[in-house]
Amino acid sequence: MSGDERSRLLGAAVDDALADALGEVAASVRGGRVADYIPELADADPDGFGVSIASVLGRVYGAGDVAAEFTIQSASKPFVYAFASDELGGEAVHRRVGVEPSGEPFNAISLDAQGRPENPFINAGAIVTTSLVPAADADERFARIRDALSRFAGRELDLDDEVYRSEAVTGHRNRALAGLALAVGSLATADVDSATDPYFRQCSLVVTTEDLALMGATLANGGVHPLTRDRVVSERAARDTLSVMATCGMYDRSGAWAFRVGMPAKSGVGGGIVAVRPGEFGVGVYSPPLDEAGNSLRGVAMLEALSDRFGLHMFDHTRVPTSPVGEASVDRETRTVTLALRGELDFLAAEQAVHDAGRLVLHVDARALRLDFTDVTLITAVAEQLLRTTAAAAEEAGLDVEFPGAPQGFDRGIG
Ligand code: GLN
Repeated sequence: MSGDERSRLLGAAVDDALADALGEVAASVRGGRVADYIPELADADPDGFGVSIASVLGRVYGAGDVAAEFTIQSASKPFVYAFASDELGGEAVHRRVGVEPSGEPFNAISLDAQGRPENPFINAGAIVTTSLVPAADADERFARIRDALSRFAGRELDLDDEVYRSEAVTGHRNRALAGLALAVGSLATADVDSATDPYFRQCSLVVTTEDLALMGATLANGGVHPLTRDRVVSERAARDTLSVMATCGMYDRSGAWAFRVGMPAKSGVGGGIVAVRPGEFGVGVYSPPLDEAGNSLRGVAMLEALSDRFGLHMFDHTRVPTSPVGEASVDRETRTVTLALRGELDFLAAEQAVHDAGRLVLHVDARALRLDFTDVTLITAVAEQLLRTTAAAAEEAGLDVEFPGAPQGFDRGIG
């Protein structure tokens, strides 16, 4: 078999499907404006366009300019937020920054009723989040942030020094936002620069669509990088981050985004967008021209196309739930109902199992119930609770109950 034939068998179909969607968006979506508040961003190639997808199993696909380098800008915010939440716990973070969509542009001067920036993804909130990263000074703070973002990407990320210098020279509004946060007691550092300087530098880290896809996949995978297997943040920090991305990731377009695309996401003025299908994929797109909200125009269109074509919207329910019950059988002679459970038992699976067991027991007026756990690979706490309660109910109704292979302690209160 030729190398080409092998690669076609090994998933080139996915690259082809991405290339199809990219080609269509490139042909039909034009316009937007490349960010020009600093010269380095204004120089970006307006025709640069790429997409990458990384699965939680570590497979990476792409089409277009997947190797083009650009600064991460605001797409850094969810990862710094995840890092700060992981270090300090969500509660400490949210004493200083809220979790409400602001409905305002990214650089708005906005504080909620408690005097906190409304969320960690508008600039005011992002600067507060950066200030929360424990460090002795600005240099150490940035070093820690860079290290965390590099672990999310699975490789060392470089700083674009020229972009950083320009951001710092022109960043009066961001310094003003930090000053306001300091005045209301929201900023965690004693001075403005210890927060804004690492913030300007985090925005100036250089990434590709592949990096964004893998960073997103790490969040999709509960905080563990799919390739390096590094646990970058806790499961809870990853979940919190996805929650805020789902509600506040696209600034004042977050509602339309949730409606049309339905994936937790975050954009940056460098033209990048990172999006996540929790438990499945991270997606990175790049196209510099922006819409009026500061989100990549073609990037948004590309993610909308992917959401539709690949069924990635979080409220899409096209998946057929697999039955958790390997075999439900009845021995007519002994009036025994056996439920052979298998695979991963979560709430949904246990709900089905409990329902099936109850229905069969009543239908045949059973004398015995066997819940066979032998082929179960994983069971969540709630699933175990539902099955235990059902077993106890059967016992109380006078049935003989057996549960071979049940998790340790399952028999508490039964038999
Ligand atoms: N560096 C930019 C700023 O802070 C990032 C903004 C963005 O990407 N939306 O203004």
